[in-house]
Amino acid sequence: MTQEAWGTVRQNLKRVVGANAFTAWIEPLEFNDARDGVASFSAPTAYVGNYVDRNFGDDILFGLRREGVKVERVSFEVSSELARRAAERVNDEADEAEGEEAVMELTSARLDPRYTFEKFIVGKPNEMAFAAAKRVAEGRGVVFNPLFLYGGVGLGKTHLMQAIAWDLRELRPDLNVVYLSAEQFMYRFIQALRERKMMDFKLQFRNADVLIVDDVQFIAGKDSTQEEFFHTFNALVDQGKQIIISADRAPGEIKQLEERIASRLQSGLVVDLHPTDYELRLGILQAKVEHYRKDYPGLTIQDGVLTYLAHRISTNVRVLEGALTRLFAFASLVGKEITQELTQDCLADILRASDRKTTVEEIQRKVAEHFNIRLSDLLGPKRSRNLARPRQMAMYLSKKMTARSLPDIARRFGGRDHTTVMHGVKKIEELMTEDSQIADDLEMLRRALEA
Ligand code: ADP
Ligand code: MG
Repeated sequence: MTQEAWGTVRQNLKRVVGANAFTAWIEPLEFNDARDGVASFSAPTAYVGNYVDRNFGDDILFGLRREGVKVERVSFEVSSELARRAAERVNDEADEAEGEEAVMELTSARLDPRYTFEKFIVGKPNEMAFAAAKRVAEGRGVVFNPLFLYGGVGLGKTHLMQAIAWDLRELRPDLNVVYLSAEQFMYRFIQALRERKMMDFKLQFRNADVLIVDDVQFIAGKDSTQEEFFHTFNALVDQGKQIIISADRAPGEIKQLEERIASRLQSGLVVDLHPTDYELRLGILQAKVEHYRKDYPGLTIQDGVLTYLAHRISTNVRVLEGALTRLFAFASLVGKEITQELTQDCLADILRASDRKTTVEEIQRKVAEHFNIRLSDLLGPKRSRNLARPRQMAMYLSKKMTARSLPDIARRFGGRDHTTVMHGVKKIEELMTEDSQIADDLEMLRRALEA
């Protein structure tokens, strides 16, 4: 019964922690039993046990409880049998790796040939990020260090990061350009620990001339990985090597990221990718259609379909691309012209999902509820602190989560002036980095609104 529960939890953990971390940490565990509120596991080494306890302990407890198992804490004991099996696996892998390229070259992850500057469509929401990336990619000395790019899912961070790597490799073949995700960094770090190859690991990274690390938020809360990342970062900056980092939010907003790391990450240039606007989406769609014309000669697309999609799908570029791919595949299968009607049929689910958009009114209601104040007070003229702050937070969320313009939002806040909203948004952006309570409240509200 409990073994079964663990089976389910384990399956879910794979999604939560990612495939690499799963292989490194969760897979080697064996579930023993759950008794007297303690879920007990066997681990190949004490290190693995401690690591899982610290980093994934809460996730495991949460999962088990959801499966109806009553547990208060987890415990790990070292099993020599598991240790033997783990050792065998490592040896097998080492045998396979032998004879492959030199270790030095293994450091960088593979780049996607589609992620180049040429294929990146520039619009108002991403022009700053694009310009900064371009500048760094010229490789003419270090201008800002690090360059920190952040933005929501599917807005082009990975695309830009890899574009920098492609250009640098071409323009400056003399430089050792290392690109990888923070998750891969962690995985290599763990592997180096396991195989007692920390020296090689350090050398590999300190040999980089340009280090590009994608999705750095991944290492938040993973203490030893953070520590090592921090050392690597400092060593490279001290040598005047260029570092480029991306994350899904601003350095100061990444929870469980050590303060000193966050502050180092902010010491260069921080640029954000804003949510797409209509023009950018249309531009991206047009570029993709050009591309598809080659794969699907003879397929025609009616006027108005692209503008329709650009209006209707406002989530992110990945969804937009997915929609178009499906549309072309479907149209070519049934051998029909792409009309608005066919689009609606073929993309019904995506279009429906995009309909569930947050409104300013919903945000106001949720914020009032959260702070236990009356909606009329939130929108009214009173300016006491206990009303003004929630009001500004509601303005901030309205700006970030809806496509409404500042004047439009201002109107919905009791007919205020748009500069008031602008000021409110700025204020919250400032406060968010210094006041973790505000950051937490916003995060909670955002999640509630997205649900
Ligand atoms: P992120 O890393 O920010 O989550 P990605 O870089 O993976 O986003 O982008 C998601 C997809 O959208 C990729 O296929 C990428 O090529 C595409 N994409 C994002 N922004 C643009 C853009 N401005 N022009 C062209 N393609 C884009
Ligand atoms: Mg990415």
